[in-house]
Amino acid sequence: MDEGGARSVDPRTDLKGMPLAELESFLSRWGKERYRARQLSRWIYGKLVDDFAGMTDLSKDFRALLAASCRISAPPAERIDVSRDGTEKALFRLDDGEGIESVLIPDEERRTLCISSQAGCALGCGFCATGAMGLRRDLSSAEIVHQVCFFARRLAERGERLTNVVFMGMGEPLRNVAEVSRAIDILLSQYGFGLSGKRVTVSTAGIVPEMLSLASKYPVSFAVSLNASDDARRSLLMPVNRKYPLKELAAAMRRIPLQSGRKVTAEYVLLSGVNDAPGDAAALARLLKGARIKVNLIPYNPHEGSPYVPPGQETVDRFRDILQAAGIQTITRERRGADIRAACGQLRAEIGEKSKIQKKRG
Ligand code: SF4
Repeated sequence: MDEGGARSVDPRTDLKGMPLAELESFLSRWGKERYRARQLSRWIYGKLVDDFAGMTDLSKDFRALLAASCRISAPPAERIDVSRDGTEKALFRLDDGEGIESVLIPDEERRTLCISSQAGCALGCGFCATGAMGLRRDLSSAEIVHQVCFFARRLAERGERLTNVVFMGMGEPLRNVAEVSRAIDILLSQYGFGLSGKRVTVSTAGIVPEMLSLASKYPVSFAVSLNASDDARRSLLMPVNRKYPLKELAAAMRRIPLQSGRKVTAEYVLLSGVNDAPGDAAALARLLKGARIKVNLIPYNPHEGSPYVPPGQETVDRFRDILQAAGIQTITRERRGADIRAACGQLRAEIGEKSKIQKKRG
């Protein structure tokens, strides 16, 4: 970084984050055959190589051409925190100095990576640390996919494999839907990470048109943050509710195309004295009745400066029992990575002294 804080931008084309069809059309300008794109994709996402010199089945000339005009970006992980329960949180420093976080959650056979789609978030949900940062910028598909490459390599080094990816880190993925779609393409492609749609989950605060449009293009799973069972309270907790109120959102959740046996997830963060009364559970059950929707109850993870606290276990159990009695599949999510502040709604990357000073001035 220079004294003024500006970072030099590498003018070479970044091949990371390019879906296969884009890579094919990019290489065709050089008269290269389509299979070259598949070869490159396998190196980048299958073998996790980010240096053209290591791509040994490409000719020396082709590698030299690639190195002169292209790059495979790999922003460094500035910090990795490992929790007592095995959860790992990485802070990546991007080319322009922004910071984003990703969280790896090991659970028996599963290795689930929670990735960020934006630096910060504009939606301002009242209980969320990322929301308190405001939106700093959208991430590129390269920056989204790199989080997956980084942890896939880290896992491979110890003989493990990434099994699930959730867009549940910093940002609202459907407010950056073009870049998120390109990243999903790579996650699902057999020349990318080859994950099935049921193992890739897009978590949204409920941006209805983009949710339906994405659901019609990719067979991914959806998790929708509800967090209240009436519009007045939901609008207070999640201002986006004023644009897409509960009834419209619940109707849209019922319209998401689903393969047999699959359900849409409704996320519900329980805040003591705010949305955790038996009447709230009953109203939620009425809203979701008969739909292929399951509920994830998440006792709130408080962060500094937050006015909310989590309810006691008895309240959580009572809420769950009311939903289950109404025939709604309900899971209470265990808190993971509490000692490294890795929980949903707690991600808030350090963005450096300069940014903090700028914010104060603003
Ligand atoms: S909960 Fe999600 S949508 Fe809401 S402010 Fe936080 S990151 Fe944004």
